[in-house]
Amino acid sequence: MHVLLAASELHPFSKTGGLADAVAALAQAIAHAGIRVSVVTPLYRGIAGKFPAIRPATWRFDLPMGPKLVGGSFRCLEAAPNLTYWFVDQPDYFDRAGLYNEANRDYPDNAARFIFLSKAALLLARHHPEPPSIVHGHDWQVGLLPLLAYHGRASGNWPSAPRTVFTIHNLAYQGSFAVDAWALANLPLGWFHMESAAHHGRLNFLKGALCLADALTTVSPRYAEEICTPEYGCGLEGVLRRRGHDLTGILNGVDYAEWNTTANPALPHAYDSFHLAGKAANKAALQAELGLPVDASVPLFGNITRLTDQKGCDLVAEALGRMLPAARIQFVVLGTGDPVLEKSFLALAAEFPDQVVARIGFDAKLAHRIEAASDFYVMPSRFEPCGLNQMYSLRYGAVPVVRATGGLDDSVVDPRADADLATGIKFTAITSEALEQAWRKAIALFGDTVAMHHFRLNGMTADFSWDRQAKRYLDLYHEVLHGP
Ligand code: ADP
Repeated sequence: MHVLLAASELHPFSKTGGLADAVAALAQAIAHAGIRVSVVTPLYRGIAGKFPAIRPATWRFDLPMGPKLVGGSFRCLEAAPNLTYWFVDQPDYFDRAGLYNEANRDYPDNAARFIFLSKAALLLARHHPEPPSIVHGHDWQVGLLPLLAYHGRASGNWPSAPRTVFTIHNLAYQGSFAVDAWALANLPLGWFHMESAAHHGRLNFLKGALCLADALTTVSPRYAEEICTPEYGCGLEGVLRRRGHDLTGILNGVDYAEWNTTANPALPHAYDSFHLAGKAANKAALQAELGLPVDASVPLFGNITRLTDQKGCDLVAEALGRMLPAARIQFVVLGTGDPVLEKSFLALAAEFPDQVVARIGFDAKLAHRIEAASDFYVMPSRFEPCGLNQMYSLRYGAVPVVRATGGLDDSVVDPRADADLATGIKFTAITSEALEQAWRKAIALFGDTVAMHHFRLNGMTADFSWDRQAKRYLDLYHEVLHGP
């Protein structure tokens, strides 16, 4: 079997969030299982210079984009046995400062950019010497890919078009465009209807995939249930309910080769569950680095996040505003995004310099240091398809304080559910009061050395490796090709 993954982000080449990590790790795990896997993704600005092993273009092509032909080429990297990355080189579309936007404004031609990516992926599938039997798309950017493949089969134009699997990493981002963008798909107008990509008078990329992919997955079992409800369905719950039999929740895994505490160049001190002195040393080092009082007896709370409404950052700021300065805690946030949220964290840091540090920006190495230093990790998401940071936190011995939603609910065990296996603290209501209550439970836990050690060890030894999860995708591919 040969599987082709298609995604607009791929770690370590491009990343704005968990999608990049998940696709890269899934590809590696499938290859590791002995299955041939290719990944197709854009060649964004800077990638070729940073990764000189990427071969120069050898395969040039033209794709119809509405009334004109647009040229591009593939550049390829043999990353590991069984694993090839294919970069779509189209400078007009992808050689830009951002992946999707600049200065918080989406590029006006995002529909064209990502239809081009979907078409390039299918061109690769069609003309590859060993054609993939499954094309697995990820998120709205490649939402029209299942539709294009389906059309190839149904129209007789490409009867052997591959079967498609589509994974929703975040239903809130759908790729909604004015109807005239449909012309760029070069599909018949009759194909634009309520059972494909039409949604409330607009072209909705994600809906196209939800209607026409052979199988759908999302990144946690809990989120798979949630998105079939009006509360979490973002207007697409009807389609998702209709396709309920084809929808599976498979929790993302963690790439423990990257997210490890024992051989990690990003960490000043190595540690593991038997050698926790290294964790204490990382805490002291980060406190010193960030100008916080170096004090082992104050619980340190971390948060590394896109600063968005989804992540409940406003709840964190509100809860902190009430708890400080009285509560003996330190809090470090690393994030970028909504300017209002950036400001509120910077204001807290200015008001409580001995307790709050706000680093505005994206810094992968600092993210590791914060995870390694933190006693707790705060993640009060309003919704969370899977979430990776809580799983990184578990391995790093930072006890997660999370809202019980999506993947957070699936990956963290609250003592009320199982005292023996408890790994974190959960709360339910989307209010800063509920978060504060959970936060105070964490402070109390920190004061109980034995219980804290118990939580920490449970988390550090929990296994969220990709190999296990990749097996579930392989079973699904098999089912799509050969039936249950
Ligand atoms: P999402 O994909 O919704 O943003 P996840 O928890 O699934 O959330 O994944 C976020 C990923 O992005 C994690 O690897 C996290 O460490 C990383 N990340 C987010 N913001 C930053 C930042 N400001 N600096 C460094 N890494 C970040």
